[in-house]
Amino acid sequence: EPVVPRVRSSDPQEVLRRVFGYDAFRGDQQEIVSHVVAGGDALVLMPTGGGKSLCYQVPALVREGTGVVVSPLIALMQDQVDALQALGVRAGFLNSTQDADERRLTEQEFLAGELDLLYLAPERLRVESTVRLLERGRIALFAIDEAHCVAQWGHDFRPDYLLLSELHGRWPDVPRIALTATATEATRTEIAQRLQLTDARHFVASFDRPNIQYRIAPKNEPRKQLLELLRAEHAGDSGIVYCLSRKSVEQTAEFLSGQGIRALPYHAGLEAAVRRNNQSRFLREDGLVMVATIAFGMGIDKPDVRFVAHLDLPKSVEGYYQETGRAGRDGEPSTAWLAYGLADVVQQRKMIDDSEGDAAHKRRLGMHLDAMLALCETTECRRVQLLRYFGQDAGTSRCGNCDTCLTPVSSWDGTVAAQKALSAVWRLKNERRQSFGAVHLIDILLGRRTAKVEQFSHDQLSVFGIGTELSEPQWRSVIRQLVARRLLAVGGLHSTLVFTDDSPAVMRGEKPLMLRSEPERAARSRSRSGP
Ligand code: ADP
Ligand code: ZN
Repeated sequence: EPVVPRVRSSDPQEVLRRVFGYDAFRGDQQEIVSHVVAGGDALVLMPTGGGKSLCYQVPALVREGTGVVVSPLIALMQDQVDALQALGVRAGFLNSTQDADERRLTEQEFLAGELDLLYLAPERLRVESTVRLLERGRIALFAIDEAHCVAQWGHDFRPDYLLLSELHGRWPDVPRIALTATATEATRTEIAQRLQLTDARHFVASFDRPNIQYRIAPKNEPRKQLLELLRAEHAGDSGIVYCLSRKSVEQTAEFLSGQGIRALPYHAGLEAAVRRNNQSRFLREDGLVMVATIAFGMGIDKPDVRFVAHLDLPKSVEGYYQETGRAGRDGEPSTAWLAYGLADVVQQRKMIDDSEGDAAHKRRLGMHLDAMLALCETTECRRVQLLRYFGQDAGTSRCGNCDTCLTPVSSWDGTVAAQKALSAVWRLKNERRQSFGAVHLIDILLGRRTAKVEQFSHDQLSVFGIGTELSEPQWRSVIRQLVARRLLAVGGLHSTLVFTDDSPAVMRGEKPLMLRSEPERAARSRSRSGP
């Protein structure tokens, strides 16, 4: 007579209490669990830290058979399985990191009905033997984690996820639950279509993270600005600093260490052992700063991350939301700080141009970037705009806990300034073989006789010195906003400023243009050490 392990029960509440040690479900968890236990399909949108795992783990322990969890996070599977086993749950995984023996053992356990949960990398489904294996066992449910990876429209598309569209045809009676922490309306629709979840019940939790203070500052001297933030507001706190390149990760980590801040680097170019060690130190120790590329953080569950700082612009709002979402999972006040400047826009646009993929793909990347830029350049509440992006009405026009709420930003009529800047670009257009970037353009507008100005006799241009009413930072801001809104482009080998299709109308003053004024100083967060 088979022994039924005590982690299994027909009562979800009992599983929650006895196995996971929690008194009550949170938010929509209970409804999702009952729906899936009853055999229904579900699409679950819940922010990071919302508690998605229990939504499939509990039903897997209630329903007959094994819960099959498809996840792209191969590096985390071992940890997830270890954590479940520590709770007495019979869990295993199949992915490319295993050798044949390990894989066979897990397959035998599955076939013998000895697994409550089986984690599976999506590319395993490309292997016919995996599909046959699944057909021979008993499956309680399919959980599709990080479901946005199936959406080509989204920011994190993985081709192997398309294989999941077959699950419904092959196992029509097995409930499927797709989960993601980021999805716009468009992505959600695509997920539902591709996974044939159009009849599934959708559970959409609030995406608001009220304890996170969103701040986006003009980038001047990023490392110095970061240091100031850490010293003034986050001394001794745990946090994550994201940089675009491996090199800048290492330089920033070194810089912080040199300033007496305990910082560790993390990027895909480091040896696996170093990476693992740094990650586990970050999780275990207090007050460590992890300087990382976005390779770091997926599935990291550290509750007391007090700040997430971006020294470079994220490629999409989804990415920004996901990365900043790693702050403040414990609900305590936390900071999401981003430094952003013209060079970021130029660099990202160039990366898109140089990227692999067809025109449609590049257009998608461009639109993701534009949405991120709009968030950076807004004079509205950041939170309201962020939530609106995810299709959610914030129910207020001002959150009171973002930089634009704390230090309201005004807009000003930049029509004339834009005309002047574009006229200067126009005057230089016949000298394309030279590198006339923003710095040189501003020198001309301000009437500065630099060596380069004299070399090219640009002091003879009619636009020389026509912009002295604005300061250099103000001009930088004007040009950044023109580029961000595609009213000016950066092109050619020399990163020269060039016209776009929309430039002429602005130069002729046909389109009034409101621009964001830069606040004098970035907002300060609520002081946590009293008044
Ligand atoms: P997500 O996958 O949505 O990012 P997780 O499933 O990792 O979130 O859950 C985040 C944290 O919240 C975990 O530490 C988890 O144990 C905890 N948690 C989830 N549900 C509950 C609950 N009902 N009661 C208490 N803690 C919970
Ligand atoms: Zn706000």
